[in-house]
Amino acid sequence: MSPRRSSILVAGSANLDFVVRAAHVPAPGETVLGREFVTFPGGKGANQAVAAARAGGASTRMLLALGDDPYAAPIEQSLRDAGVEPVIVRSRQSPTGTAFICVSDDAENAITVAPGANLALRASDLPPLAAVSHLLLQLETPVETVSAYAATARFAGVTVVLNAAPARPLPDALLRAVDVLIVNEGELETLAGAEGGIADRLDRLAVPCVVVTLGARGCIARGDGGIIVQPAFPVVAVDTTAAGDTFCGALAARLAHGDRLADGLRYACAASALACMRLGAQASIPAREAVEAFLRDAPADPPQARQALAAHCGLI
Ligand code: ADP
Repeated sequence: MSPRRSSILVAGSANLDFVVRAAHVPAPGETVLGREFVTFPGGKGANQAVAAARAGGASTRMLLALGDDPYAAPIEQSLRDAGVEPVIVRSRQSPTGTAFICVSDDAENAITVAPGANLALRASDLPPLAAVSHLLLQLETPVETVSAYAATARFAGVTVVLNAAPARPLPDALLRAVDVLIVNEGELETLAGAEGGIADRLDRLAVPCVVVTLGARGCIARGDGGIIVQPAFPVVAVDTTAAGDTFCGALAARLAHGDRLADGLRYACAASALACMRLGAQASIPAREAVEAFLRDAPADPPQARQALAAHCGLI
């Protein structure tokens, strides 16, 4: 097998999340006395890299920018523990990205992100792509950098997977360089407007393969010559924090491994359902063995679930 076959490079954001629980989220000007405090490695790029590595089948590297400070070490360690090889750009001017998260007892949250070094990632930081089959990108780093990476990868024959999150309009040149676009419903609306059903809007995007994740409903995709709907796996969800990131990393890894789109979507839905059953971001992302065991035991998707999803998407 040539090394190009199944090797993922994730290029994107990494943060250290500072999480405090409190009775309620503070209103402007209010001080709330919180309770337990924890730090977690997070950021869409790092979460997706961990998800790709745990899905297996493809070696995973991550290009990220960190500050020269103590917040960088736990992020790097968490990537290495998951089997991700980090390619680190060390910023001397900016601190490591951080997120300050207050979670209330009724599961509301208020989040302030200080992107710091994530904004220092430049086009010139992209490592050689000779051994890379899939490049996985998100939008928590400067869009000019993301566009440059996508264009370089496209030129090199690398499959470009973009999770267009957080929602923002995209330059046409970036969309033209993308092979697989993954968005949630809100992000779909930003890119394709609110007119028409989900399937119609998905068709408006000039990307060869588009996947729309639909939370507890599952997902719909256009690709492999048709439309595929994959209902979510019913689980008792306790924390959906990294569901989307788990889905993106798992799908990219399975596609890099050579799965057909329908199989990759089924795996990604199972992995993200499992992630919803555990607290936390990277800690909740399941390993391949757990996902495969879950899929072995899962009953076949009931036809009603597929029909309901197709109807929700405006297909019937
Ligand atoms: P995001 O977090 O990016 O908004 P979604 O909420 O659409 O993404 O979730 C991504 C995927 O995670 C869904 O396509 C689905 O497969 C899975 N998922 C999300 N919420 C649930 C849930 N409550 N039960 C089962 N699977 C879920």
